[in-house]
Amino acid sequence: MPSTLDPQLRRALADRLLYYHELGIYDFYRREPLVRESPATDVVKSATSQSELREEMAARKSAVAATVAEEDIFEARTPKPESGVTDPVAALKLIREDLGECTRCKLHKQGRKQIVFGVGNPRAELMFVGEGPGADEDAQGEPFVGRAGQLLNNMIKAMGLQREDVYIANVVKCRPPGNRTPEPDECDTCSPFLMRQIATIQPKVVVALGATAAKNLLAMNSSLGELRGRFYDFNPAGVRRNDPSWPGARLAVTYHPAYLLRDPRQKGEAWKDLQMVMKYLGLKPPKADA
Ligand code: SF4
Repeated sequence: MPSTLDPQLRRALADRLLYYHELGIYDFYRREPLVRESPATDVVKSATSQSELREEMAARKSAVAATVAEEDIFEARTPKPESGVTDPVAALKLIREDLGECTRCKLHKQGRKQIVFGVGNPRAELMFVGEGPGADEDAQGEPFVGRAGQLLNNMIKAMGLQREDVYIANVVKCRPPGNRTPEPDECDTCSPFLMRQIATIQPKVVVALGATAAKNLLAMNSSLGELRGRFYDFNPAGVRRNDPSWPGARLAVTYHPAYLLRDPRQKGEAWKDLQMVMKYLGLKPPKADA
């Protein structure tokens, strides 16, 4: 930050950085040739209330991610708590501590019993991302433990793996009331923590379960049918990775297990998606008598 910066603006920027940190966002990016002022500066100037700031920040987040993809010019302003921590177990613990008893979005006051952070192997090659916790998950504090979770376990076994081999998380970590779809502002507020989990685990493949996960991870608004059937190159948005040896993950999209319970005819299609992942990871289905 130049020393000539107006002291009032400097103070405002410092306050804004603190605000972003509370939201779990630590990395900021600037495209030098085209943008005279940083996104944070724009926000300070144009937004006048917390709700306006939240809306503006959500819009900026995707714009910022696009900037990084286009220009690859970035600069980390402040380290995340897990920066420089090479042990993924310790790094995930720091992310969980940073999340705290989160009240960052309105889901915290809509009947959640607890935050459902994520579960599984912190060094997993394969990660599944769903939409949000349901009643069983909210009660037990673990993702995918209800009927849909049983089906996901079976899908994982069919791939020749155990549940403990993979890592499982959701786009939002608190149960939306009545199992409604999480709203865009809730996803935007919570997903930076998911992105940090993915950047920590560094999986080879991320499987997005259902349209909400796919759209949020890919920042695309296409239908699930259009998104399935291929791999995408995936780097967690807005997260500066610590390890240059991790090139990012491949991302595949398939049906959410809850949808497959409602329409079992689509299980064959989901199996095709999983087979594509198995081929990439060199996995073989278990033998019939295993
Ligand atoms: Fe916080 Fe995420 Fe829960 Fe919202 S859904 S309160 S951002 S942990």
